[in-house]
Amino acid sequence: MTAVALTTRASAAAPVTELVDAFGRRAEDLRISLTDKCSLRCTYCMPAEGLEWLSKDRVLSDDEIVRLSAIFLRLGVKSIRLTGGEPLVRPGVAGLVSRLAALEPRPELSLTTNALALADKAVDLARSGLDRVNVSLDTLDREKFRTLTRRDRLADVLAGLQAAADAGLAPIKVNAVLMRDQNLSEAGELLGWALRAGYRMRFIEHMPLDAQHAWTRADMVTAEDVLAVLEDEFVLRPVGNRGNAPAEEFEIVDGPGRDTWAVGPWRVGIIASVTRPFCRDCDRLRLTADGQLRTCLFSHDETDLRAALRTGADDDELAQLIATAVAGKAAGHGIALPDFKQPDRPMSAIGG
Ligand code: SAM
Ligand code: SF4
Repeated sequence: MTAVALTTRASAAAPVTELVDAFGRRAEDLRISLTDKCSLRCTYCMPAEGLEWLSKDRVLSDDEIVRLSAIFLRLGVKSIRLTGGEPLVRPGVAGLVSRLAALEPRPELSLTTNALALADKAVDLARSGLDRVNVSLDTLDREKFRTLTRRDRLADVLAGLQAAADAGLAPIKVNAVLMRDQNLSEAGELLGWALRAGYRMRFIEHMPLDAQHAWTRADMVTAEDVLAVLEDEFVLRPVGNRGNAPAEEFEIVDGPGRDTWAVGPWRVGIIASVTRPFCRDCDRLRLTADGQLRTCLFSHDETDLRAALRTGADDDELAQLIATAVAGKAAGHGIALPDFKQPDRPMSAIGG
């Protein structure tokens, strides 16, 4: 991994005002990882024993996150998603949310979570200014959940989802990663359940970002596989025009138990980062819990904003560093290329 040096610190250039890369893409969505730690051990994400966690002094403080966020907003970022690891294992997330919600221009604020702690925290988070949540849930079967996550916590996730809905953190998106021999056959059941509950179901292709480096192209479940399973039961129609959204959306025209579905829109999303990449429209940036800026999930380069912060860089210098990183954003992730190499950092340490 290459950490980009602070070569721009002494730059006397005019202050930057926007984040545009060499391919004309404007960075407007920032994912901030609050921690690399997690309360689950999803088999496709990290090993049973966990990983070597970041020490506390390496993790950005709330003050540092708020200061950097203000700079990103000044440069045109419009939405901030808090993620991890599991963001809700970090103490004081609601307090951080209220500080981010007070920034100008106010960002749209969302959270990606495994929902274990959501039953306790949803009301506080909503009151603090969180707009919505994405919840990760790969199965509705207790035993399968225990096998997939190595924890017997399905009931907590379901309680967390209900609490989020009650607190008005809507629309609630539920994200599932499907594995061929484990939960691919459950895709239709998950979609039916989400339609009845009023959640927006999305299926994510497994990406080569697992800590174990066990991903293979041959084994992964593709968007085509998911659609084939769903179309056994549902009539789907592509919506088209996804803009910068990662999910390809399909309208659900018909399916089993239609009269029991909650109020629409009735849609399902497929996030096919591997087989149908959307790099051309990517507007995302990622800030890791230890303050490294990444312009792509699959990048091998990082820009060390923490070092700049902690050695006295002013806001214009930080903005210049960020703009330089964005300018160098790669055209695409290159997973299909023969020389593709998985980055050292796993998904849980980048921020999904
Ligand atoms: N712990 C939180 C959660 O699970 O929602 C937030 C972080 S998690 C890394 C974010 C999302 O990434 C989850 O929906 C998870 O299923 C997904 N994910 C993890 N590893 C993945 C991989 N290798 N490929 C695709 N998605 C992955
Ligand atoms: Fe934790 Fe999310 Fe990874 Fe599962 S996918 S182990 S919940 S970080």
